[in-house]
Amino acid sequence: MQEQANAIIQTLKSKGLRVTPQRFAVYANLLSRTDHPTVEQILTDLNKDFPVSSQATIYSSLQALREVGLVREVLLEEGVSRYDANVQLHHHFCCQCCGAIEDIAWDTFKCIELKNLRPGLRGETYEVTVQGLCDACSDRSYRTPI
Ligand SMILES: [Zn+2]
Ligand SMILES: [Zn+2]
Repeated sequence: MQEQANAIIQTLKSKGLRVTPQRFAVYANLLSRTDHPTVEQILTDLNKDFPVSSQATIYSSLQALREVGLVREVLLEEGVSRYDANVQLHHHFCCQCCGAIEDIAWDTFKCIELKNLRPGLRGETYEVTVQGLCDACSDRSYRTPI
């Protein structure tokens, strides 16, 4: 646990960020989960053991972490910002029933040919969002025949 805390502090410092309790708590929280939480979800989680955070402090910590590339914003639903501490290239699976989001490894799909774009467009990167049903939701739909 202490080792992990030190690693987080080192990472923040290596990006030139001042280590504040809020930044530390927000980044540690994001690293510990893979569900791409919203600001509200992070706040609820942190307030369990750190009941001084407000949505505004969480938000400004997230901004600072984003600016140095430790955290990315994931926009899969209109108007809902979710946050991800996985900043490697990856795709997302989004459950249309419960809204769960999980990462899909970059090499799951064969490469999309960006050179097939019409002349004049220079593609640089892309990511795929697969919509469907997660394990729990497809189980449920098997059990209750429509
Ligand atoms: Zn689901
Ligand atoms: Zn992700």
